[in-house]
Amino acid sequence: MEAQESGEHKYVYDFAEGNKDLKDLLGGKGANLAEMTNLGLPVPPGFTITTEACKAYLTTGREPDGLAAQIEAHLESLEREMGRRLGDPDDPLLVSVRSGAKFSMPGMMETVLNVGLNDRSVVGLSNQAGGNDRFAWDSYRRLIQMFGKTVCEVPGEEFEHALDEIKSAKGTHNDLDLDADDLRGLVDAYKKIFAKHTGREFPQEPREQLDLAIRAVFDSWNAERAILYRRQERIPADLGTAVNVVAMVFGNLGPDSGTGVAFTRDPGSGAQGIYGDYLANAQGEDVVAGIRNTVPLQELEQLDKTSYDQLLGIMARLEEHYKDLCDIEFTIERGKLWMLQTRVGKRTAAAAFVIAGQLVDEGLIDLDEALHRVNGAQLAQLMFPRFQLDHEFEAVAKGIGASPGAASGKVVFTSARAVELAAEGESVILVRRETNPDDLNGMIAAKGILTSRGGKTSHAAVVARGMGKTCVSGADELDVNVPAKRFTVGGHVVNEGDVVSIDGTTGKVYLGEVPVMPSEVVQYFEGELDPENTDDALVRSVHRIMTHADAARRLRVRTNADTGTDAARARRFGAEGIGLCRTEHMFLGDRRELVERLILASGEREREDALAALLPLQRADFIEIFREMDGLPVTVRLIDPPLHEFLPPLEQLAVNVAVAQERGEDVAKEEALLAAVRRMHEENPMLGLRGVRLGLVIPGLFAMQVRAIAEAAVAVVRDGGKACPEIMVPLVGAVQELETVRAEAERIIAEVVGDSGVEVLIGTMIEVPRAALTAGQIAEAAEFFSFGTNDLTQMGWGFSRDDVEGAFFWRYLELGIFGISPFESIDTDGVGRLIRIAAEEGRAARPGLKLGVCGEHGGDPDSVHFFHEVGLDYVSCSPFRVPVARLEAGRAAITTTGSDSR
Ligand code: PEP
Ligand code: MG
Repeated sequence: MEAQESGEHKYVYDFAEGNKDLKDLLGGKGANLAEMTNLGLPVPPGFTITTEACKAYLTTGREPDGLAAQIEAHLESLEREMGRRLGDPDDPLLVSVRSGAKFSMPGMMETVLNVGLNDRSVVGLSNQAGGNDRFAWDSYRRLIQMFGKTVCEVPGEEFEHALDEIKSAKGTHNDLDLDADDLRGLVDAYKKIFAKHTGREFPQEPREQLDLAIRAVFDSWNAERAILYRRQERIPADLGTAVNVVAMVFGNLGPDSGTGVAFTRDPGSGAQGIYGDYLANAQGEDVVAGIRNTVPLQELEQLDKTSYDQLLGIMARLEEHYKDLCDIEFTIERGKLWMLQTRVGKRTAAAAFVIAGQLVDEGLIDLDEALHRVNGAQLAQLMFPRFQLDHEFEAVAKGIGASPGAASGKVVFTSARAVELAAEGESVILVRRETNPDDLNGMIAAKGILTSRGGKTSHAAVVARGMGKTCVSGADELDVNVPAKRFTVGGHVVNEGDVVSIDGTTGKVYLGEVPVMPSEVVQYFEGELDPENTDDALVRSVHRIMTHADAARRLRVRTNADTGTDAARARRFGAEGIGLCRTEHMFLGDRRELVERLILASGEREREDALAALLPLQRADFIEIFREMDGLPVTVRLIDPPLHEFLPPLEQLAVNVAVAQERGEDVAKEEALLAAVRRMHEENPMLGLRGVRLGLVIPGLFAMQVRAIAEAAVAVVRDGGKACPEIMVPLVGAVQELETVRAEAERIIAEVVGDSGVEVLIGTMIEVPRAALTAGQIAEAAEFFSFGTNDLTQMGWGFSRDDVEGAFFWRYLELGIFGISPFESIDTDGVGRLIRIAAEEGRAARPGLKLGVCGEHGGDPDSVHFFHEVGLDYVSCSPFRVPVARLEAGRAAITTTGSDSR
């Protein structure tokens, strides 16, 4: 307050001055402590030093001007409020110094408790505690330990070692068996350790302790583990942390004191009820460190009914106030309850849906807000099969859930062995310390990947996610010995061939085969579970929120499907059409031979014969799909990949021919094939003869496909059905390409459809940067655009889409060049800009131009929001992602002031 009056920048806020919406400035913890203070809840008094002070310190290397004086002023008012002074030898005020960033970064940054204790005030503390010397000396030794470790980087083990020594001298394992004299001795030992490592005595001046502790919290923002965590969680690096200075309350004053954590609902399942742990006669860090076993919170009712009832009342109040699941930390000091922290609690994907539904029922939030509270990533997680876990299965290790799913299989340690066993039909789990690009084949062959090192952006994690393969990374309890073909974990030895199970969502590792159960959410989408008639709270809530998302969204959601089966499944999942029917696969299998004939045709006649043979087969393909989609729009893309992909590989063919020649066999046919393959070989096939270029080079190829599409539509309509085909030309870069194809297509369509009433749209993909930049011209010849964001990313960045993710993206992610692969989530600044330009200029040239996207990004949650914002008409994605896209399209459409869902 004083700062504002003098026009100086305000860096320190009393709890009474803040509120929950000031997270940017006060961090999550500070903002919520302020909120609870203003609600009149029992929060120990204190103040928050802002993230701005931290940022200023981190950029300049020194505390900003005015900060010291503001701290002094707030400290004085804290002292007045508490009636105690920091460092007072008779009746000292002690404070805790805690970090608290905008987004919770559990355990990543520093905390120092009991600041203000020294050789003199330790006596005063004992007096305060009714002559409890043991408590006072225990608090002092904790300060030296924490301060030494976090502020002065004294190795923590040395303190632990000294503690162990005193305990073993006393013949005990329990801290509580140490008496005041033992702890006084321990303080001396700790001081020596401190002096040895820092070259100075433990600071006796309380204000110096406080300033150094604050500085240590600022510095901890840039500790290596914090940087790593932020990268994994995609938390911006420049937010800084706030620092909370809070009057200490003590849970370790005796049996009528204690500390605990609680959730207002079960964060695992979302079930209503009280979930928490309590530890009597302890301080907060004892609970986290697991030094003694906690008891379920419900037992507090027997120990201290007044505090228990008050706590339940506060929890109900917090839920009502935050309108969400809250987690809290509290301390009871001699029968008096203190709230030390609250925040909107983290929860599993299932709990997120269940709780959102419950809160609607309870009238706390509306359906828009419920929709805002869940997200597509959570829904996607719920669509993976899960392990059916009962008490028999206990995880032996926990790493990072790097790529979701559940996988069991035989352990292998090399890529080669993975390939070998997989070829024999075995399920394998590839176990490595960390993977590298040489492991790619093994990763492809394996059911799952398990590494003992590396985080969410490690090579293993990135590549596995790209493949949709289950992966647990960084399970550091595993000691992996590749040459010996075994790993050890918690006393178990696991040899090659032993079975393990890994859960890519939770990161847990199990020995043996854990049975897998299907996702009930998928069963619901498949129509196998009636949401109105099930007692499954998750399914009921998913149904309700999906229904609301469908009503709210403006974007339509189509699917990428090229078989009747995929089309049917996608419709069950809610697809409103096909946005991309790739026709490539229709040229494979037993049709390969016809395609070979087409490619190798020596004259017009031969080519026409081959095309004539392909025509009815293609027509049948399209009939099946049109029937399945029953009048919903179906975008059929004309053939795209380079034709040589339909021919045998060059090396293999060359060897075959050489061997046959050696044997003196007649190889005329093979030689012709080899010559053709050589002729068509390209150094950069992705930039070569594919897409529209093929259509312009091979006479009759596109014409055959157009005819098959039009004839199929007419056949379905004549049969009483409905068909709504859209023909899409791939890889167009210039309007002239499209015009040429269009002229021929229109002729054929007019000839085929006659008076059947069938209407066929003709449009193009926008997947070459030049097409995006000349969209105004291209729109003259296109009734729709569909953004092929895979190729647009490939050609926009110049990244080979088949190579780079496995080859080096892990490094780019590590360096923070991007936070997520641009093939996974749209690069809004670059590739997104191309999309914006094309959308705007296309629509300006042809009002009503239909716009969609059919690259992989169509099912990516963040990208869906971008496509909504750019004003596309639809997104199209693989069948399994259709529900995710529906949900995110709904979320994109609602505007809400609700809390940040992170
Ligand atoms: C694209 O490039 O985004 C696209 C959908 O086409 P394909 O992936 O088949 O190249
Ligand atoms: Mg493409």
